[in-house]
Amino acid sequence: KPRIFSGIQPSGNLTLGNYLGALKRFAQKQDEGIETIYCLVDLHAITVWQDPEDLKRQTREAAAAFIASGVDPTRSVLFNQSQVSAHAEMGWLLNCVARMGWMNRMTQWKDKAGKSAEKQSLGLFAYPALMAADILTYHATMVPVGEDQKQHVELTRDIAAKFNHDYKTDFFPSPEPLIEGVATRVMSLRDGSKKMSKSDPSDASRINLTDDADTIAKKFRKAVTDPAELPFEMEGLEARPEARNLVNIYAALADMSPEAVLGEFGGKGFGTFKPALADLAVAKLEPISREMGRLMADPAEIDRTLSEGAARARAIAQPILEETLDIMGMIRGR
Ligand code: ATP
Ligand code: MG
Repeated sequence: KPRIFSGIQPSGNLTLGNYLGALKRFAQKQDEGIETIYCLVDLHAITVWQDPEDLKRQTREAAAAFIASGVDPTRSVLFNQSQVSAHAEMGWLLNCVARMGWMNRMTQWKDKAGKSAEKQSLGLFAYPALMAADILTYHATMVPVGEDQKQHVELTRDIAAKFNHDYKTDFFPSPEPLIEGVATRVMSLRDGSKKMSKSDPSDASRINLTDDADTIAKKFRKAVTDPAELPFEMEGLEARPEARNLVNIYAALADMSPEAVLGEFGGKGFGTFKPALADLAVAKLEPISREMGRLMADPAEIDRTLSEGAARARAIAQPILEETLDIMGMIRGR
């Protein structure tokens, strides 16, 4: 039976990359009538320092962003990870299945640890095993993510396969990454070789869902690009990552193909294209940030929504955790 699980870290302001690569697609999957479970992965967020008060606010804000983007908490299961203890427990079990060498090969670990691996938390290193736990604790079959998370979903498949092999079972289904559309890897506005991230120290590198119209226009205006005009064909974008990024963003926001965007803007310069892109982004994001603001006015209501979601998540996760423990040889009460 198809079941979707995905998550977002409440580690800062959600970005246009999170919206196009994740939130917008989460709402679409729900509307296709598939069972959808969406999680604010606060246990992942603390793999790097989070101020406790900020973490609470960011978690509520991320919940508001899900709802404002069309995730309906009565049709999808929406909750924060730490309220369902099965995630942490399954995380430990899978820490004992995953291999150090596998973790060492993760490009996100290498990117985030940089040259100072020794100074990172043990949790940051183990992050992909917790992510595998998030997915496998629900026997999820599909995981909609951006391109950057593909390797972690593949690792989840390896962990599931090793568990099934070691314990001579077929208990864990192998989840498929769903990486669809033209905005699976939205790039930084300051550096066409880096992905847009909510944790990038430069605010100018990203569009935040809560940015106002002037800020959005200014960030696109200042986005790094080459001086050439837009080409008429996609081949003309091959060696122009910054231009390609802006065309892809336009296409994803407008639900058009990048070819159609070039059909409209080919031969025009960024002096024309950037303001058009900013207007489109404002038109699409403004209703979302307005709705987020409305929801954030009642934090207690958001907390209630999350704990209701957590109760529904627990009902699915707990029996799968119990069976995992049993398979691994832990005595369970009767
Ligand atoms: P952080 O810098 O804290 O890791 P992030 O912006 O990478 O933040 P995550 O919470 O790690 O956000 O990822 C949430 C979801 O958003 C994932 O599915 C991820 O693949 C997707 N995503 C993140 N950045 C982008 C991007 N630039 N383009 C498309 N999808 C993205
Ligand atoms: Mg990330």
